[in-house]
Amino acid sequence: MSNTTGTPGSIATAHTLPSYLDASHLGPWGNYLQQVDRVTPYLGSLARWVETLKRPKRILIVDVPIEMDNGAIAHFEGYRVQHNTSRGPGKGGVRFHQDVTLSEVMALSAWMSVKNAAVNVPYGGAKGGIRVDPRKLSMGELERLTRRYTSEIGIIIGPSKDIPAPDVNTNGQIMAWMMDTYSMNVGETATGVVTGKPVDLGGSLGRNEATGRGVYTVGVEAAHHIGLKIEGARLAVQGFGNVGGTAARLFAEAGAHVVAVQDHTGSLYRDGGLDVPALLAHVKETGGVGGFAGADRLDNDAFWGVDCDILIPAALETQITATNAGKIQARLVIEGANGPTTPEADDILHDKGVLVLPDVIANAGGVTVSYFEWVQDFSSFFWSEDEINARLVRIMKDAFAGIWQVAQEHKVSLRTATFIVACTRILHAREMRGLYP
Ligand code: GLU
Repeated sequence: MSNTTGTPGSIATAHTLPSYLDASHLGPWGNYLQQVDRVTPYLGSLARWVETLKRPKRILIVDVPIEMDNGAIAHFEGYRVQHNTSRGPGKGGVRFHQDVTLSEVMALSAWMSVKNAAVNVPYGGAKGGIRVDPRKLSMGELERLTRRYTSEIGIIIGPSKDIPAPDVNTNGQIMAWMMDTYSMNVGETATGVVTGKPVDLGGSLGRNEATGRGVYTVGVEAAHHIGLKIEGARLAVQGFGNVGGTAARLFAEAGAHVVAVQDHTGSLYRDGGLDVPALLAHVKETGGVGGFAGADRLDNDAFWGVDCDILIPAALETQITATNAGKIQARLVIEGANGPTTPEADDILHDKGVLVLPDVIANAGGVTVSYFEWVQDFSSFFWSEDEINARLVRIMKDAFAGIWQVAQEHKVSLRTATFIVACTRILHAREMRGLYP
């Protein structure tokens, strides 16, 4: 929510209630709860602890007031949710988006717990967000918003407590401001408090493209298992930012044809495949795929029914639903976004024989290289990009192989298999630690 005082119409004031008081916003957390219910029968004696996964450990809601450039005071709604810390400190990104809600941040924090356990990095799960459209802010306003938010959540974050990172609409510059604000408040430079920082500030080589590289790496593994060749494969990608853009580039370099793309600025189609480097340059310049000259415009709804082999949702959650799942032509869906597929859509895709490679493994490459960044910050010893990419690929491939085996063993979807592996790790840690006090 944003509310301005004394400046009619300067920023959106459509929301009169904080999102957590608005019952129509309970979406993504409900989807996550259904995913947990689906895994519970496979948890054996650890099922005794499963309620732990259905309740975030800690939720902080903060008011973020800033002075706008025109002198008005604007208030924004901010969150940091620590879903679970059984396996280590909280870890997960910070999202700046006008539609951020508590339900969404709760779900995203829980998916971080599952994701971190799935690739076995020593973290719990957390997530943060501010309900704001950052495109409507000046650089100065964005910096003040970031710094005030960081101060407000400063009571629960820290290099060994909870480590934020970039997510939708946040980037290295925002991480630099977060790191600086936290450091000024504690009186020492604490590079390890956030990851995804610029390389000159303790960031890691390879972090920027790590999520997309991970999507590509496990996507290729999954395609191989269903006999789908990457060379010549037709790809549709929703979201052409850090994740979708990088994944599309890597698939195109391997010989796939990116035939359709969609983002908040429009949908494009080109039967012979789009020129991905040219499209990336256009997005960098204009902020979206809309208006790109080298393709035909596509109706937004028609995107889902495009003739393709691989579909990569890499934007926001709840995109593939009972309404459009039936139209999907792809044999493989690789979830670059968090939570893009609802449980009902999962069932429809399963019945159609479409393989869904779930978010909690498919997009885990980002947090895996965040883990490398955090380790490098602690040791003040920095690795080469080749070493980082090689370690990333090894972790992703090993995690995928384990999950594939569990899926075969129990005859379950890859999502349930990933939840079996991850929730077993989390709840085993929970049980060994015990309850205290
Ligand atoms: N925001 C990313 C995700 O959803 C990365 C989180 C991180 O690196 O901590 O996985």
